[in-house]
Amino acid sequence: GRDAHPAAGQPLLRIEGVAKTFGTFRAVDGVSLDVKAGEFFALLGPSGCGKTTLLRMLAGFEAPDEGRVLLGGQDIAQALPHERPINMMFQNYALFPHLSVRDNIAFGLKRAGMARADIATRVAEMVALVKLDGLEKRKPDQLSGGQRQRVALARALARRPQLLLLDEPLAALDKKLRESTLGELMELQRRLGMTFIIVTHDQEEAMTMASRIGVMKSGKLAQVASPRELYEAPRSRWIAEFVGDINLFDGESKLRDGHRLVIGTRDAGSLVVAEPREPVGGGKLSIAIRPEKVKLSRRGPVSGAGHETAINRLDGVIADICYLGGTTTYKVKLDTGGMVQASVANSARLDVDAYSLNQHVVAWFAPDDCMVLTS
Ligand code: ATP
Repeated sequence: GRDAHPAAGQPLLRIEGVAKTFGTFRAVDGVSLDVKAGEFFALLGPSGCGKTTLLRMLAGFEAPDEGRVLLGGQDIAQALPHERPINMMFQNYALFPHLSVRDNIAFGLKRAGMARADIATRVAEMVALVKLDGLEKRKPDQLSGGQRQRVALARALARRPQLLLLDEPLAALDKKLRESTLGELMELQRRLGMTFIIVTHDQEEAMTMASRIGVMKSGKLAQVASPRELYEAPRSRWIAEFVGDINLFDGESKLRDGHRLVIGTRDAGSLVVAEPREPVGGGKLSIAIRPEKVKLSRRGPVSGAGHETAINRLDGVIADICYLGGTTTYKVKLDTGGMVQASVANSARLDVDAYSLNQHVVAWFAPDDCMVLTS
């Protein structure tokens, strides 16, 4: 029941081999996942990968064709949505337009038969929690997008669910508001010690907020990992490309040289990489390097600055420049025909030279900063 709430760090939700087919289309294709109490978990994936469908099955709006959903060890398959200690905040907020802020928040409490005085107390608590004081009597169309989002959040939290599901909670907000609301959501989750599962297609959002991320592709979980692990050690080429920017070079041959691999590529010659922690499978190899791991130097006599060795040293010219404030991204057209992207931290001093278009440069990177991936 509602009172048997596992302590933080204990398993709260267990999803076992859950699948959902619409007609002949398998929208969710055998997902298994454990979420611990107090976690902020993100389901990340491109449009149509099945994130919302999975969330709707957790909330009880959709019944799985296969598999089980356990909450606190109990199978909740037969429980109706409002019987589950789970609440869902919808992407479009789904507020009742004819009800005031107060009545929107009170809605689920009334339906659950809570006493009037208790409802008033709880609503006041929720209004304070999401900082809506003074707006209790307004209707949704008299609120800004950010305020509507808070009403939806307050309504979803009002019954103190064990698990809150949030479907693209920030999608309707503009960039600035999204950033501040993101911080508030994280703060709120920590303060309440609640378990959140958020659905998003925005990798930055997932990385910032979540302690763990499940990447979904075509109805399956492709990887479940911490943000750092996902970024630094993606399990496949697809994940590396989906989570952040990446340079990829297709491998054509492979040689072992002590603790290193020498991989022949078409676009960048021979590249040296550290022996991967896990053995590389038989599939087609790619060498992957994040743009911020690629260093640039002026072309000239090789000296100092770390590119003294001839390893992973690529000559080229600056073909494109994208100034982003904290960093500048340079696209370097390699003499060997390929392209490499380098993201370079900017200096606060305007008199420190940046690179200019068509300038000859050397792009180089350490073997330890390369990943060896298969598709
Ligand atoms: P988005 O980020 O665009 O919301 P998503 O990852 O949440 O995408 P889902 O909404 O779960 O994706 O949909 C997964 C797939 O299942 C989509 O191809 C969608 O068209 C299909 N689908 C979802 N609901 C139904 C339904 N009721 N009937 C038929 N097909 C559906």
